[in-house]
Amino acid sequence: MLKADSALCSVPGVGPRRAAALEKLGVGTVEDLLYVLPFRYEDRRAFARIGELRPGGREMTLAVHVESSRLIRTRRRGFTIFEARLKDESGSIRAVWYNQPYLQRVFPAGRRAVVFGRASVDRYGTNLVLENPDHEIQDDQDAEGIHTGRIVPVYRKLGEWTSRMQRTLVFRVLEGLAAASVPEPVPHEIGSRHGFLPRLEALRQTHFPPAHAGLDALAERRTLGQRSLAFEEIFLLQIGLALRRVGFHEEARGISYAVPDALRTRLARVLPFRLTQAQKRVLREIREDLESPHPMGRLLQGDVGSGKTIVALLAMLVAVENGYQAALMVPTEILAEQHFRSLSQLLRREGTDYRPVLLSGSLRSARRKEVLEEIGSGRAQIVLGTHALFEPQVRFHRLGLVVVDEQHRFGVLQRAALAGKGERPDVLVMTATPIPRSLALTVYGDLELSVIDELPPGRTPIRTVVRGEAERKRVYEGVRTAISRGQQAYVVVPLVEETEKTDLKAATAFAGKLQAEVFPDRNVGLVHGRLRGEEKDEVMRAFADGRIHVLVATTVIEVGVDVANATVMVVEHAERFGLSQLHQLRGRVGRGSTRSYCVLMVGEDGVGRDARERLRIMEETSDGFRIAEKDLELRGPGAVFGTQQHGLSDLQFLALVLKDPALLDAARAEAHDLVHGGPGGQARARRILGSLRGAWRRRIRLAEVG
Ligand code: ADP
Ligand code: MG
Repeated sequence: MLKADSALCSVPGVGPRRAAALEKLGVGTVEDLLYVLPFRYEDRRAFARIGELRPGGREMTLAVHVESSRLIRTRRRGFTIFEARLKDESGSIRAVWYNQPYLQRVFPAGRRAVVFGRASVDRYGTNLVLENPDHEIQDDQDAEGIHTGRIVPVYRKLGEWTSRMQRTLVFRVLEGLAAASVPEPVPHEIGSRHGFLPRLEALRQTHFPPAHAGLDALAERRTLGQRSLAFEEIFLLQIGLALRRVGFHEEARGISYAVPDALRTRLARVLPFRLTQAQKRVLREIREDLESPHPMGRLLQGDVGSGKTIVALLAMLVAVENGYQAALMVPTEILAEQHFRSLSQLLRREGTDYRPVLLSGSLRSARRKEVLEEIGSGRAQIVLGTHALFEPQVRFHRLGLVVVDEQHRFGVLQRAALAGKGERPDVLVMTATPIPRSLALTVYGDLELSVIDELPPGRTPIRTVVRGEAERKRVYEGVRTAISRGQQAYVVVPLVEETEKTDLKAATAFAGKLQAEVFPDRNVGLVHGRLRGEEKDEVMRAFADGRIHVLVATTVIEVGVDVANATVMVVEHAERFGLSQLHQLRGRVGRGSTRSYCVLMVGEDGVGRDARERLRIMEETSDGFRIAEKDLELRGPGAVFGTQQHGLSDLQFLALVLKDPALLDAARAEAHDLVHGGPGGQARARRILGSLRGAWRRRIRLAEVG
């Protein structure tokens, strides 16, 4: 008998080479394999007789008898056709398979088989033919079909495995698995209270749905089997998050900052503008966290340009006033430099001698040593930087507040590393990707949520248009007009991979061409991720000062760059960008009171359906919340948040929590009750998580760290 934790090489039909390949993909055991769920289903239930087939009709399942068969070698080298004549009581039909010579052995004359496919008219226009039907041999008429005569699961390609191979394998595994070896991490009383299925049964029904299952329900992942698995996943994740919160709130005593009124008035004076109502509300929430003895864990969500940074700076000043250091971590060096500049400016206005320092990866070693020393001695009160901040050499004197900007670029692990540098510092995480509340609770369940849902006043809506190659001249005319009015433009070119030289060459050539042929009397600049820090800085400064009129950029400008005088954003090959990315890019303009334009150029190669949908949404709305939701719908949460380092890709039901908040609520409530409901709850919860294995460990690691 197979066991849930058996290695895959112990499954009949899986050799050591295949097993090793699967292991590399994170599928090491029988249990792991069962948790690779179908991504869609195909209805192959409808049986028909051959006599009922009509050309171009639905795909049908046929129970047939192989009357004769032969392999035809064509004149094209290596190209074979396998042909079989299939028969039932109502008639016969020819079936052909291309380049599958091994079918000779599968379909000898006299065999009983089940095939699934759609009939078409053969090339002579006379007879019906089945081309490449899926098939199954059934000598035993009563045997249950795997690939035909049922709703069949379809899997994403897993290494070299075809969906069909995986289907067979999963079927065998489910047949041969010892039920008692499958652990039930969700306590029985909880599962049954909600009417969910035991784990093995839920898996069985999710891979091979019962005959009466509804296809729509399956597609939307709301059958009982799927919901049971979804509940399990969310419940376990929520336990992890609840335990982490316990750690925060009970064991850890954090810093209690004093925020006296005098300080608040002083801080308010720093500002060159009035805070919006939303900013004020969020600041109040943050202030309560800062004053409380528990370490803050707060997610600040707000659309591009909604003014998150200033809120963070004020919080950092509170920490500094209380004698602590504050760190602001951002995803790119350019952004770090920019924040450094605007922060220094603000602080000068205020006339204080707070010392901000910039720790960037590109510092020369002497300067770097100096900066590290300032951080270590506490002379540097505000430290800005990229992930360079959490390298082991960076030691803080007294780190009290960590702000992480543009969270979705950072992994949870990195967040943990930085927080580990102080004694339970307060943590504020900022993101411009507005995450629906239900999802935020799932992914950042340990963080409190604050939302800035209002833009500063005086912004004029950005006009967004999609343009093709034929309109390029007119687009350039538009840019020229803007420049002649003293404004500036971005032109963003896609990079597939920042490290790819050819891309870079293309970007460089493009900028050169714009300079020479389109804007000979203006300055065209180029900024990309391969430039050294100072070079980037120089280009960005030239753009900020208005010395560069058109800035050609790879997506390094995506996050945070703030040049209010830029009013045109041209995105080349806009079809290659994701929705959230486009939204971020567009957020670089429309920062002043002049009308701004975002021109989405589509390439000549045409645009797929998803891309067209993305562009349409960009034209239609500038509501970051709607865009994020749409992005999630189109790409799934894993892709949206940059899965790899996040662990999100391992969560299979994340998308479901958006559509089914009740399931999330139930899982959260149960996890909370388990952890907090009476003595022994926490220990029990820890045991449950401790018992998870393989892919499951990865899945909830998201909750364990950070
Ligand atoms: P985010 O980080 O949320 O994208 P920023 O903090 O960079 O937004 O703010 C965007 C721009 O709006 C900046 O130029 C900032 O100075 C300005 N800003 C922020 N808050 C206000 C406000 N209340 N009134 C006017 N301008 C503001
Ligand atoms: Mg920002």
